Amino acid sequence: MPKQFIDFGAVKAAVSFQQVLDHYGFTAQMRSTRNGDGLEGPCPIHEGTSQDTFKVTLSKNCWFCHNSSCKCGGNHLDFVAKMENCNAHEAALKIDEWFNLGLAGKADSSPQRRDGAPKSSAPSAQQQPMPRQGFNGTSSPAAESKVVEEPQEEPGENVPLSFKLENLKTDHTYFTERGLTPETVAEFGLGFCAKGTMSGRIVIPIHNKGGELVGYGGRWPGQPPEERPKYKLPMGFKKSAEVFNLDRAQMEEKGLPLIVVEGFFDVMKLWQQGFHRVVSIMGSSLSPKQEELLLEASAERSGILLMFDEDEAGRIGREKALVRLARRIFVRVVPLPQEGAQPDHLTENELHALLD
Ligand SMILES: [Zn+2]
Repeated sequence: MPKQFIDFGAVKAAVSFQQVLDHYGFTAQMRSTRNGDGLEGPCPIHEGTSQDTFKVTLSKNCWFCHNSSCKCGGNHLDFVAKMENCNAHEAALKIDEWFNLGLAGKADSSPQRRDGAPKSSAPSAQQQPMPRQGFNGTSSPAAESKVVEEPQEEPGENVPLSFKLENLKTDHTYFTERGLTPETVAEFGLGFCAKGTMSGRIVIPIHNKGGELVGYGGRWPGQPPEERPKYKLPMGFKKSAEVFNLDRAQMEEKGLPLIVVEGFFDVMKLWQQGFHRVVSIMGSSLSPKQEELLLEASAERSGILLMFDEDEAGRIGREKALVRLARRIFVRVVPLPQEGAQPDHLTENELHALLD
């Protein structure tokens, strides 16, 4: 059967999550949450019995399941895809059929259906596709307290650097200790810096999504002396405005999920193992600006994969990121095999087992 075009946005706008749940007959087994906008109940995807693992936000048409057998969430299209064990395209066609929407094959570019029988009524105002919410100006959890001079006219933007650190030592033993090959060191432009504010540190160039150099992360090679932090960022650098490696990752095949990790080394190690669609939010809390950047670089059908450190901060961070991202795209959490694990310490086999 030739692949029939269907507009995901139109399908999502025409049918609410509530209607999808009703279609499956699940509404009865779920209970409303306090604010009236949520439903929770046993998860129909992994068929669990626990009464509160599966949560739905009706106004946002989104869901997620906390249980370790799912650990994922998304919109109602993603839900049908999970339930029917099919891709988002097939899920959209199923919804179209179930609700008699008549959207299949309808598009400006493919005007096959000219039978003059529009079955779908115009979506009501409240069911319009959700506009991408812009940066709403609320302070992010990752707000930089050390910023002294905030340029008023460009809040949240990092200005591209007018210089580049030179004479970096690229054969430092720390690279071997972290398991990075000379090719990876060269690809990411790493080096040991002997002079200036980053002196004594391994510097990691940070580019904005357009590929412009906007700062350097400085990692102390090994355990730093007590008074020094492990990582140093330039004065005034807004970490929450950038996603590390986004410039490279977005050039990769969009059919693969965008893997989001916490640290620079996680990115570099995964990249070295062949996972090139990988980015870091430079910490465990996702800022609103980073959320936008991740969505821009993601493809709806392949979604986002969160692979944070398996520790308290990582678990809290990924849970929050999951809840926020799941309103807008398919997102999956990949918990790591043991407490304290972080992606850059996983072997190639372990990574493939988790990500393939
Ligand atoms: Zn589940």
